[in-house]
Formats: sequence, C-alpha cells, structure tokens
Amino acid sequence: MITEMELIKSKLQKKEITPTYIRLRVLDYLEANKVHPTAETIYKALVKEIPTISRTSVYNTLNGFLEKGLISSIFITGTETRFDSNTSPHHHFFCEKCGQIIDLDIECSYFKKGYVKGHKIKELHGYFKGICKNCIKKRR
Ligand SMILES: [Zn+2]
Ligand SMILES: [Zn+2]
Repeated sequence: MITEMELIKSKLQKKEITPTYIRLRVLDYLEANKVHPTAETIYKALVKEIPTISRTSVYNTLNGFLEKGLISSIFITGTETRFDSNTSPHHHFFCEKCGQIIDLDIECSYFKKGYVKGHKIKELHGYFKGICKNCIKKRR
C-alpha cells in the first residue's frame, strides 16, 4: 500500500527536489488544505507539531517549490501571496468574509481555443470575488 507521505515524496522526487522532512510536511499541508494558504498560515500550523521549524525554512521551501514549478502562487487579495498545489490552469473564488480561496472547476472557452480575440494565451488567471456559500449559510 502506498501511504500519503510516499505519494508526496514521489511528487518531490519527480521535480528533482530532495525530500527533506520540512519539504514533505509543507507539501503535505498544501495538498491537505486546498484553501490556498499563506506562508504564515502554513508556518503557524506546522510549528505546533514541529517546534524546531523556522519561518525562514517554510518561506525558502515554498520559494523552492515555486522555482521548480511544483506549486503556483496567486495574488488575488492584493496584499499577500497565497500558495496552490494545483498548477493546472483553473479559476478561483475569493471570499471577502472568511478569506478562503476556492478552486473552481469551470470551463473557459477561450483557454480551450488557446486564443482570445486573436491573442495567444499562455496562462490563465481568472478569479471571482464575493461571499462563499458557507458564509452565506452562516449569515442566515
Ligand atoms: Zn467565506
Ligand atoms: Zn487553486
């Protein structure tokens, strides 16, 4: 049986990243928490279990992942960098209430064609801002 950690390990190795303990835990956190956390959120969650972990090592790990194309970064909020373990092009929904960023599995007809109004598309960064369905429910 393949454990989750072994899966995470093979993802790192595929990108030629040495699977250190910190790197495994950071990628594992991103895979388990699909709300697109900040480096600070990841640090605060991991330091509870790994008291020796430093902020710098979390930041360096994330930057290393970005360089290798293992994860992507998004700047929807305008003030902070959020990290995404899903590197395929997809749309996002940013909730102004709870700050979650949710992946949207919606089709973009332009991206499928590869061109928009005659311009060749290389990347897609589509997002919506509003109030997520969980926050709407809480309001009622
Ligand atoms: Zn919300
Ligand atoms: Zn995403």
